[in-house]
Amino acid sequence: MTGLADLTLRRPGTLAEAQAALGADGARPLGGGTDLLPSLRRGILRPAVLVDLGGIAGLDGVQREAGHWRLGAGVTLARLERDAALAASLPALVQAAARVAGPGHRSAATLGGNLCQNTRCVYYNQSAWWRAANGGCLKRDGTVCHVAPQGTRCHAAYEGDLAAALLALDAEVEIAGPGGARRCALQALYRDDGAAHLTLAPGELVVAVLVPLPPAGTRSGFAKVSARAAMDFPLASVAVALRLDGARLAALAVGLSGTNSRPLRLQDTNTLLGRPVDDELLAALGKLVARQASPMRSTVTAAHHRRLVAAATAQRLLRELAQAGPP
Ligand SMILES: Cc1cc2nc3c(=O)[nH]c(=O)nc-3n(C[C@H](O)[C@H](O)[C@H](O)COP(=O)(O)OP(=O)(O)OC[C@H]3O[C@@H](n4cnc5c(N)ncnc54)[C@H](O)[C@@H]3O)c2cc1C
Ligand code: SF4
Repeated sequence: MTGLADLTLRRPGTLAEAQAALGADGARPLGGGTDLLPSLRRGILRPAVLVDLGGIAGLDGVQREAGHWRLGAGVTLARLERDAALAASLPALVQAAARVAGPGHRSAATLGGNLCQNTRCVYYNQSAWWRAANGGCLKRDGTVCHVAPQGTRCHAAYEGDLAAALLALDAEVEIAGPGGARRCALQALYRDDGAAHLTLAPGELVVAVLVPLPPAGTRSGFAKVSARAAMDFPLASVAVALRLDGARLAALAVGLSGTNSRPLRLQDTNTLLGRPVDDELLAALGKLVARQASPMRSTVTAAHHRRLVAAATAQRLLRELAQAGPP
């Protein structure tokens, strides 16, 4: 770790002021700083201006509105974690929030920062001298990817936990920027590129997350496997939302994080509908996950192991939710 480079810190009181401040060259939003500050201290990122979103009135609201929850980008994970109404309505989200880092991190970490956190790689999340000794890499200060040296793209993994839950829950994000406000499906916030995984245009920021109220009978949950039981990024995080019709699966959505350069909403889950949740169905789910998860050697844990972990975690979570009593 090194000292912080010179930078200007702005603390706007309104969204309009924040947008104006983000218009400056090299400006970057600051939520709780739990992802950003270690990167500044390692010289990985060097923003000229940090725009602290913590003073913006109303950015940390949690409201139940007609048909959906509106969660402000500035709400802390600790606040999400202890909200009883949210826990009853969106258990997967609350369980995911409770599994991020440690309690101290969660008291500062924000929803927006969690969704927009940087991708990670064992060759990248290192001190400046460590990275220089390896000649940098494609993502920063170099020309080669040490994970896939023949390739031309970065395979750093997106390891945010909340995105998995919010993808399974059909969330949308509200974005504000120089071009005005826009709303998109959460999946569209991400692209499959470890060096530029967000689709935000310069000056844009996430303002809120909108999560539809789940239809009656929806069960949802979150599960995560990491090398350490606490305060660790996921080898794989999985969220499942489902509905049963008797013993048969009537609706299924699966969100996945930790394995690819972007979080994924699992495709082709409709092929599993109408079937009982038995070993055959779980095997088919495992195949879907293993096919769509594409971890690379960006962590100290073998890529194939992470793929197997993702598949097994999804299978276990689906079985547990199906066997639990009605919500
Ligand atoms: C030891 C340790 C363990 C961790 N473990 C986990 C873990 O298990 N799971 C996990 O998901 N994360 C983990 N993290 C990462 C981080 O703590 C969390 O992701 C946290 O939620 C980030 O939120 P923040 O508000 O602190 O983000 P910040 O650090 O403030 O920001 C993160 C990034 O998002 C951008 N940003 C912030 N707000 C917005 C916005 N509204 N719109 C657009 N861009 C924005 C910032 O510019 C920055 O690039 C860990 C971090 C540490 C240090
Ligand atoms: S995946 Fe490759 S380019 Fe990306 S951070 Fe790791 S080594 Fe660098």
